[in-house]
Amino acid sequence: MVSPGELRLLTELSEGTNEFTPETGPGGAVEYPTAERLLDDRDPDVVDVLERYGARGVLEGEFVSKVYSCPECDTQGMQYTTACPACESAHAVETTVLEHQACGYAAPESYFEDEGDLACPDCETTVREEGLSRRQQYVCKECGEVFETPEDRLWCRDCLYMFPPAETIERALYRYQITDDGREWTDRHRLAREAAADSLEERRFEVSVDTTVEGDGTTYPVHVFAEDPLMGDRRVVAIAERPTEKHVAAFRDLASDVGAHPIIITTTGAVSEEVARRAEATEVTLLSARPDGTLDSEYDVGEGAPRGQSLFQRLTSAMDVPAWKTQ
Ligand SMILES: [Zn+2]
Ligand SMILES: [Zn+2]
Ligand SMILES: [Zn+2]
Repeated sequence: MVSPGELRLLTELSEGTNEFTPETGPGGAVEYPTAERLLDDRDPDVVDVLERYGARGVLEGEFVSKVYSCPECDTQGMQYTTACPACESAHAVETTVLEHQACGYAAPESYFEDEGDLACPDCETTVREEGLSRRQQYVCKECGEVFETPEDRLWCRDCLYMFPPAETIERALYRYQITDDGREWTDRHRLAREAAADSLEERRFEVSVDTTVEGDGTTYPVHVFAEDPLMGDRRVVAIAERPTEKHVAAFRDLASDVGAHPIIITTTGAVSEEVARRAEATEVTLLSARPDGTLDSEYDVGEGAPRGQSLFQRLTSAMDVPAWKTQ
């Protein structure tokens, strides 16, 4: 199913803004502000939507960068830090360490400072610069461990846990554009929506396109909502390439919540056996959108042949559901 928000987003890429660029928001979360504004609250996360249409060739993504998310709480934009290999504290800082060559004692420079001179705190002798070697080392302020190579960690700004980078969730970010196929895909779905709206208008429904309908405490975005002002009859329209049983069940629930009969338009003209069965039981009206923009009450089931006219009448009656369900 393409949601009204997703179709809006794809239309924008097809006709307006020609790309969606990732931005890092407050706290390091990844945002596609332009794309996000076009989606509805009920739509999935914008990054998931873009990735899904990217995977199916409707969008193409140009690699931008990577972000890391917390495996504990999912917060995006983890921050790099070094950590102590002994106690895992991030409070390990690079320090100049002196070693008294005569006795081998090593400690941060401040330990050797003795009223303007340098003295070895271990063998308690004053030492000259020549008797010392200096090197940069990490000193853990938490447990006192001295080490050369700290551990690499990413820490979460939200839950404050630290993880080795390999244990965090890496996500590549892309700048998205619509493909030629995607433009065609979008046009096909918008044409299907228009055909549904026109067809309902011809039947004297008052029709709204890309609108919202109030259910019992929920507002649903829908592609088409139609109401017969005299009869109080209502229709809602969903559009899917190939609706699954889950889509049908969810849309039927939506329709019942808003007191409308559900119409699902398939833009491939193909559905599974289960979906066909639900349509036959008149839980939903199933229509195919043809490439020329017309609607048809025939559709293909599984890999089989199209359903014949004996079960499904032409669109004229199909749009008049549920009157034809008893035939
Ligand atoms: Zn010493
Ligand atoms: Zn430590
Ligand atoms: Zn976290």
